[in-house]
Amino acid sequence: MLGKGNRIITVANQKGGVGKTTTAINLATALAAIGERVLIIDFDPQGNASTGLGIERNERVLSSYHLMVGEAGIAEAAMETDVPHLSIVPSTMDLLGVEMEISDQKDRVFKLKKAIAEFGTGTYDYILIDCPPSLNLLTINAMAAAHSVLVPLQCEFFALEGLSQLLETVGQVRATLNPNLDIQGIVMTMFDSRNNLAQQVVDDVRSYLGDKVYRTLIPRNVRVSEAPSYGKPAILYDLRCSGSQAYLKLASEVIQRERERKAA
Ligand code: ADP
Ligand code: MG
Repeated sequence: MLGKGNRIITVANQKGGVGKTTTAINLATALAAIGERVLIIDFDPQGNASTGLGIERNERVLSSYHLMVGEAGIAEAAMETDVPHLSIVPSTMDLLGVEMEISDQKDRVFKLKKAIAEFGTGTYDYILIDCPPSLNLLTINAMAAAHSVLVPLQCEFFALEGLSQLLETVGQVRATLNPNLDIQGIVMTMFDSRNNLAQQVVDDVRSYLGDKVYRTLIPRNVRVSEAPSYGKPAILYDLRCSGSQAYLKLASEVIQRERERKAA
């Protein structure tokens, strides 16, 4: 509903377990719930986003691997999910080998961008790319293809560790491959209000990154961690839980930022 064109957001952090996949799934579901047409591209060989959206391994015939090697387009590979308006290009372990397979190709960093360009911009309002926990060729492809990067940071003592490397990579991609790449925002995940350290971490991150940090904090919430084992986003599994409510709020901040960016 942004009108012409779509917005492509890469969810990235080279640390594992910080909430990338949980954020991709629930932000996508929240956007779809308010009427946006959304595609997730599962870009992690682990395939957690695919599993979390109820796509069984034996159903994954065409995947993000096929986009990367040019054997299928998004139109063929995208699968509908149980969430209305939300589709996914699933991933499989094949994606692990893709870096080797295309390493000698000149356009290897633009494979995903090319697949998205060939597909066109009319079908989805948002495309979210769920990255692997690495700054490898897959993540670079995702950054080269995107308008912006959304970074989940876990509310823990070492939250900022590694962030400068990530931001440096974004800077390098902007300087060389994708001049318009921006930071959509930083989302603090697994916030535990009973833990004094967590608030301290949030304050530190805010003083370092300012408004780039979303106002919404994603609380640590058991319902959020249970949902994937039912193949459902938390928002479908338990709409009322604090985690689902937080992801709905995050979606409205994301939309707000995209509107401001469009107006600018
Ligand atoms: P990543 O994709 O960065 O590796 P995940 O989204 O898979 O991270 O999250 C790592 C683990 O933490 C998963 O088991 C997930 O269910 C759990 N988790 C993520 N966000 C929350 C949350 N807000 N509350 C509780 N558990 C969470
Ligand atoms: Mg993940």
